[in-house]
Amino acid sequence: MSTELLAPRVRLFIFEHFLEHAAPPVVEQVMGTFSLSRDEATDVLRDLETARHIALVPGTARILMAFPFSAIATPFRATVRGRSYFANCAWDAIAFHAMLGDDTRVDSFCHHCGAPIQIELRDGRATRVDPNESLVYLALRPADWWGDIVTTCSNTMVFFASAEHRDASDLCTGADASASLTPDQVHALSGLIYGSKLALDYARPAKEALLAHWAAMGLSGDYWKL
Ligand SMILES: [Zn+2]
Repeated sequence: MSTELLAPRVRLFIFEHFLEHAAPPVVEQVMGTFSLSRDEATDVLRDLETARHIALVPGTARILMAFPFSAIATPFRATVRGRSYFANCAWDAIAFHAMLGDDTRVDSFCHHCGAPIQIELRDGRATRVDPNESLVYLALRPADWWGDIVTTCSNTMVFFASAEHRDASDLCTGADASASLTPDQVHALSGLIYGSKLALDYARPAKEALLAHWAAMGLSGDYWKL
């Protein structure tokens, strides 16, 4: 099977495996499912990483991230369809609702003080946000997200319980270099990127489509340039 046909199938296999098991498949399962050698399977995973569908543990063929899924424990837990998943970041936790559509509960923490934050999403809206001033903070500009996506997800896309706790945090970089969004805004941002992740023909949105989507939400200005 050519790479063009194989890569989308392996991508979907990874996402469906994550959805069912809350864990990624290992390279041997990719080899067995698709009749590939270790090198061939590893090459497909690297291609999917280059195409920004997944991230591998550096120096290995182990799947660390298949956005929004995380293979390891994180402070961002999403519960949906009776199953609990770790997300890579605050955005990814909310994106579970955009990806699956069913009622979703997010259990996380304030990045400043560690206090619990809980968000419930239903029919495309946050129906409960506790504490109610909780916000999603993006500490890097979009143009910088993919420089090191593991660091970006792990360290710079977090929840704060309030604007005061954001401003008191060492992560706070000032309004020009960061964004503070409501859970509803983050959900609206997520649809374009996450809405069809479980379709075989999923394609990441083009830069122009992303910029148009953000502008339609009123998210423009220097921070949102790509
Ligand atoms: Zn706090």
